[in-house]
Amino acid sequence: MKINKIYTVNFRNYDKCNLDFSSMVNVFYGQNAQGKTNILEAIFYSAFGFSHRTFEENELIKIGCKEMGVGVEYESFSSSHAVKIKKYLQQEKQKKEIILDGEKIRPKEQYGKLNAVMFSPEDLQLVKGEPALRRRFFDMQIAQADKVYYDLLIKYNRILQQRNKLLKDLRERGRESSEQLKVWDKEFVRLAAAVVRKRIVSLNKLKKITAEIYSSLTENKEKMEIKYGIKANNGEILYLEDEEKNWEDFYRHCLKERESVDILRGSTGVGPHRDDLSLLLNGVSLRSFGSQGQQRSGALALKLSQLEYVRRETGEFPILLLDDVMSELDIKRRTQLLSFIDGKVQTFITVNDRELIPKFENCRYFEIIEGKIKEV
Ligand code: ATP
Ligand code: MG
Repeated sequence: MKINKIYTVNFRNYDKCNLDFSSMVNVFYGQNAQGKTNILEAIFYSAFGFSHRTFEENELIKIGCKEMGVGVEYESFSSSHAVKIKKYLQQEKQKKEIILDGEKIRPKEQYGKLNAVMFSPEDLQLVKGEPALRRRFFDMQIAQADKVYYDLLIKYNRILQQRNKLLKDLRERGRESSEQLKVWDKEFVRLAAAVVRKRIVSLNKLKKITAEIYSSLTENKEKMEIKYGIKANNGEILYLEDEEKNWEDFYRHCLKERESVDILRGSTGVGPHRDDLSLLLNGVSLRSFGSQGQQRSGALALKLSQLEYVRRETGEFPILLLDDVMSELDIKRRTQLLSFIDGKVQTFITVNDRELIPKFENCRYFEIIEGKIKEV
């Protein structure tokens, strides 16, 4: 997958920007706060319809402006496409329009068309950070190659919120259960089972890729494993990785058993939103026992696995957005990362100092100063 062109109007600190890209490596360099990440954000936004760093879409509109637009032209399997997103005010209301190849589409139709992987310093926390980071990483990865999963996640999160709201309501009214809770439980069980089943199918593929990549990063000296951990009602972590398991029965039982606790807490204590990926190195927890370097290699292996996973599932590499990671990685890992992508993955790199990026064939450099971009 390749992006040939981007144009933006009133996006973040850019009035107007119009760029052609190299099909391989594109480097954006400049000092702090000039607009480097903003450009990667614009690419990410064109791919997914949301920002990688804020849920507040209005922040993307240039301060003082009422509308903005971003568009990219890209190639996927040798066919060319153009996607355009506009946000504007109409009768005091924020409107958003996504146009793919001249036709208006809904946000969920856009997801997975233009695939991108963002790798930022936050991802270096993938190993030692909170479970939510790993869930988000894993969910994005699966959804990029599976539209049904994206849809399932949205529905699951919706029912989870509804159930939690009802639990709080029951708590406040001192009630024990209700007919409505039974309705939500039924739907919750169906969706939780579907989400977990897909996660396990996907994990079984990801495991192999990550093991291969980690071992190549460490010249076969170390072995990395991933397990899917489910927090059971008694607090234990269960490693259940059976695609054929009757997950509906599992969740039905869990919900029933913990109903009074859930009402007391006003939230749902079991389900895919509580699960985690356990990362092991040579059989022990990488999070608890790994050195900082091993944890970084683990995070790097996970991100590279994401690229490879999407390639195996969809047939093409996604584009890669490397925001500020070059300065965060030591020379060895930087070289490993660049040799993985070299000649295969169209990559957009932001960096303060362009000297950190070795010479690539077919590489374009863009200098950014106060929201103005100049190719050098
Ligand atoms: P660093 O090297 O520190 O990461 P950067 O070049 O990546 O810097 P960006 O995050 O891309 O910087 O851009 C930050 C700049 O964009 C800041 O000066 C900020 O004030 C400006 N900015 C962010 N959002 C908006 C907006 N909606 N309207 C105008 N300017 C904005
Ligand atoms: Mg930045």
